[in-house]
Amino acid sequence: MSKAIEDLKKLSREEAIACAEQSLLHTYNRYQIILEKGEGMYLFDSEGKKYLDFCAGIAVFALGYKNERFNQAVKDQVDQLVHTSNYYYNFPSIAAAQRLTKLAHMDRVFFTNSGTEAIEGAIKTARKYAFNKDGRTDHEIIAMNHSFHGRSMGALSVTGNPHYQEAFKPLIGGVKFAEYNNLDSVKELVTDRTCAIILEPIQGEGGIYPATEEFLKGLRALCDEKDILLIFDEIQCGMGRSGMMFACQRYGVDPDIMTVAKALGCGLPVGAFMTTERAAALVAGDHGSTYGGNPLVGTAANAVLDIFEEDHILENVQETGAYLYEKLEAVKAAHPEITGHRGVGFIQGLEFDRPVGALVSKCIENGLILISAGTNVIRFIPPLIAKKEHVDTMIEILESSMTSIN
Ligand SMILES: *Cc1c(COP(=O)(O)O)cnc(C)c1O
Repeated sequence: MSKAIEDLKKLSREEAIACAEQSLLHTYNRYQIILEKGEGMYLFDSEGKKYLDFCAGIAVFALGYKNERFNQAVKDQVDQLVHTSNYYYNFPSIAAAQRLTKLAHMDRVFFTNSGTEAIEGAIKTARKYAFNKDGRTDHEIIAMNHSFHGRSMGALSVTGNPHYQEAFKPLIGGVKFAEYNNLDSVKELVTDRTCAIILEPIQGEGGIYPATEEFLKGLRALCDEKDILLIFDEIQCGMGRSGMMFACQRYGVDPDIMTVAKALGCGLPVGAFMTTERAAALVAGDHGSTYGGNPLVGTAANAVLDIFEEDHILENVQETGAYLYEKLEAVKAAHPEITGHRGVGFIQGLEFDRPVGALVSKCIENGLILISAGTNVIRFIPPLIAKKEHVDTMIEILESSMTSIN
């Protein structure tokens, strides 16, 4: 281990955090813990304290910590080859491309290093597709209020949250915002320049709002009628979290472009945008990435897909997710300050009549890692291996934490 890390580890938690606060940009209000290792559903901090994890590194760590098959596959590939360049082929990414496109009902994939980059690729694909049709350069995109698509300038431009956007204007032009689950509000914004409609089949950061079937089917029909590309951002709700491989498959609606990331590499930075053959408008020279789809992250994605099959991850999310739903319904019934319960599988949320920051902090103090979505919603996005006993423990800590701060 690097001596610099060893030296830090000799400090007290407070001293180490002071070092962090001196050197890191203050873009996060962090909880005052340093996480050091994980095992299964549990994380351990620098003082040895154990936490049950219902956050999964924000919907990333699907398979639980210290998964031997995943770790071994990655270690072996580290010794084999970590990176080349996209000017050459590599086996892990070819296999990942084949498997992922098949699962997503898509034809082609471009690997990125993050979710926000997958969105950039989706936006560029939509604009190029429309450009190829009419040669215009004033195409428009319809996005949704309360959406979240990432922090880079293009993704930020389609993120329907004025707080995130305000200071960074001008954003990319031609973006209009409709109301989620309101098909008429989308139709009103369509013009002959509309090239894409982008949305999350289940809104994550915005507060766990699932789309209605009527809305997704209506959008699909609208896009077919007007030759507009439908983009589904499955970065958070995809990769099994809803109990289906991709959330849109619960509705039987396929997009023209799909973005994934988060759980795809289980912590190794890999995302992707995928397109149908018809929408595959980007050609040589149009797009690129130095790291994207290198052999290491390709191996990680394959290991994730292997374990999904071998361990019947989707079945577990369906079964344990239904149990989580029942338990959260009971919590809601017992606590009048809880005003809503939404979601499915391992992407559920409880809405409170007040900000949930203090409750999340109390849960962490009590050994349960949770995360909010917006100010009033607690999100339940555990690793996809969570079992009923973990749900029971989570509910116990949640309820005792609620009692102690009221
Ligand atoms: C997290 C997230 C993103 C951005 O992903 P990053 O990897 O953080 O860039 C985009 N869309 C959705 C729905 C997300 O949840």
